[in-house]
Amino acid sequence: MAICYVKTEGDYFIAIRESVGKMEPMVFQDLKKLIFQDVKNENETKKVSVILRLHAIIMCIYFLSLLFFSFVSEEVQLLIWCVPCFCAFAAAFYTTYLNKTGMAVIVSHAIMVCWVIGFIWEFGWDCGAQHFIFVLVVLCFTVCYGAAWKVIIGLAACALRLLLYAYTNFYPPHCVLDSGARVLFQFINTIFTFTAIAVILMVFAKDSQEMEKKLIQYNEKLHRQASVDPLTGLLNRRSMREYLEKAIDDYRKRKIDNLSVAIGDIDFFKRVNDTYGHECGDIVLKSLAAVFKEKIEKCGEVSRWGGEEFLFVFRNLNGDEALIFLEELREKLKKMTIPYKDEMIKVTMTFGLSEFDFQRGIDYSVSEADGKLYKGKTAGRDRIVY
Ligand code: GH3
Ligand code: MG
Ligand code: MG
Repeated sequence: MAICYVKTEGDYFIAIRESVGKMEPMVFQDLKKLIFQDVKNENETKKVSVILRLHAIIMCIYFLSLLFFSFVSEEVQLLIWCVPCFCAFAAAFYTTYLNKTGMAVIVSHAIMVCWVIGFIWEFGWDCGAQHFIFVLVVLCFTVCYGAAWKVIIGLAACALRLLLYAYTNFYPPHCVLDSGARVLFQFINTIFTFTAIAVILMVFAKDSQEMEKKLIQYNEKLHRQASVDPLTGLLNRRSMREYLEKAIDDYRKRKIDNLSVAIGDIDFFKRVNDTYGHECGDIVLKSLAAVFKEKIEKCGEVSRWGGEEFLFVFRNLNGDEALIFLEELREKLKKMTIPYKDEMIKVTMTFGLSEFDFQRGIDYSVSEADGKLYKGKTAGRDRIVY
């Protein structure tokens, strides 16, 4: 801790408060580190260890509180039970840091069973120790892998609870407590049972929810990678086909009244590559793609159809309206300069435009646009042919 000169008494208290405030999170951080520390054995999952550690901590606190109660009420029998159980859970906690998670699972389950049987035999059914059988089942279902183990422990837990219930109906408890103590036991047992179940399930669910989230993100990434051109970020040919199918469907259902397609090709792009290099060509492609994307955002979609060819789809624009759009775009591109190193690159584009005809189909419209593009190229480039 840093030593500082404190001027007034008020400042002194502020300094103390701040230093304590800084220390508190440190304690929590250390505890967190301890609980979430990785397991040494690669074959064992961290989740299982964390659940076992948290469960062991909760049970240790539980036995400490019972120890306190047994001191206050001078219940010697309770003391005899609590001390070994506390030590056993402390050992179970420790074993999770060794290569012995499986051992910790067995120890945890065994102590729980012994505790429940011993407690009920000693103090009877009314104290609520049987609730810990539910913790036992939850623990088993979250930390055991084999389905067979889950079924066996589930059935055994059910049988144990029924047997204990039957036993307490026929035999009185070894130590009869007064009603106040019974209520207190019931309170403590219920609170710790629910806390243990909530904590175990929280850790278990958080992990699986995170896994699910990661899987969704991974699938989305894969889907994005499969549908987007990596250089320009535009749709690729495959996903543009899907977009077109959807647009045609909307046209058929009269959700849109018009549909137009255009193919744009960069003029003399080979020269850009030859003069400034392939890297410069890539930058030009990216810059143009960004302009297309921004401009078409509200009225359709654009895709990288081939090397330096782009397919534009205009939803709800007829040929004449699409022509106005393309004319604006062509003018914009003509004025645009793309900086590359010390150079300012300028390019133009030629477009072939076709209005969709439902009778002839989309393939006809695309090839018509392609034919018109070719006409535009032979007519001198930097133009739109419709
Ligand atoms: P035109 O006006 O007739 O279209 O002439 P052009 O030079 O643009 O046409 P051509 O088909 O001869 O050349 C197209 C060039 O586009 C050739 C190819 O190297 C380049 N190209 C295609 N894809 C890419 C790419 O991803 N990056 C770069 N840098 N160049 C590409
Ligand atoms: Mg070209
Ligand atoms: Mg081309």
